Amino acid sequence: MPRQAHDDRLVFFHAAEDSTFRAMHTTPGFPTLRIVDHPLVQHKLALLRDRATPTKIFKELVDEIATLMAYEATSDLPLEPAPVETPLETMIGQRVMGKKLTLVPILRAGLGMVEGICRLVPSARVGHIGLYRDHDTLQPVDYYFKVPSDAAERDFFLLDPMLATGGSAAAAVASLKRAGATRIRFLCLVAAPEGVQRLATAHPDVQVFCAALDRELNEHGYILPGLGDAGDRLFGTR
Ligand code: URA
Repeated sequence: MPRQAHDDRLVFFHAAEDSTFRAMHTTPGFPTLRIVDHPLVQHKLALLRDRATPTKIFKELVDEIATLMAYEATSDLPLEPAPVETPLETMIGQRVMGKKLTLVPILRAGLGMVEGICRLVPSARVGHIGLYRDHDTLQPVDYYFKVPSDAAERDFFLLDPMLATGGSAAAAVASLKRAGATRIRFLCLVAAPEGVQRLATAHPDVQVFCAALDRELNEHGYILPGLGDAGDRLFGTR
């Protein structure tokens, strides 16, 4: 069957590549950023932004968008041949190579993205990072850090719905690298240009996946237009 010029079944190629597949959206000023512009992601994101969306629905939407984002962020995981016995004969199937993927939510809003990704990758391990900002130095400090001990051999997805100033994200990546991680991706729902830039400057090796690159930060560090405080909206604490 002839392939259409803009076949939208696969999204594994980037804008500059010569491909008949639909390109994943990239932004020239932000080479580490991949925007997942799948229609379902964009539709759910608009619902998420709506101030009238109640906590229960907000939580479900974060979960669903995280699943769809993870689909994109796992699209280039290497495979290896694996023999399979079907009811009829033995054949060579494929399985994802290497150690189990590790998800690391940044507490607390990152927790909202874990289950949606685990549904897609049930064998994933889950670490946790908690950060606070030191009042004197203004530097982010880990108050909780736990990831699998063989970090050097694993792929990590660091999770936080909002990439705002990039301070926590850069600090969390630095903590993961100190623990030995070398292959890290950052998955968020909404990113601010300032945060993407800061993370790219500190860690140019870390690819960022988001559903939207918003306009700017306000004076309180909230993303505009954004969706408000993701932690409060997820956990109903406002
Ligand atoms: N954290 C949030 O939850 N929302 C923002 O807009 C910025 C940081």
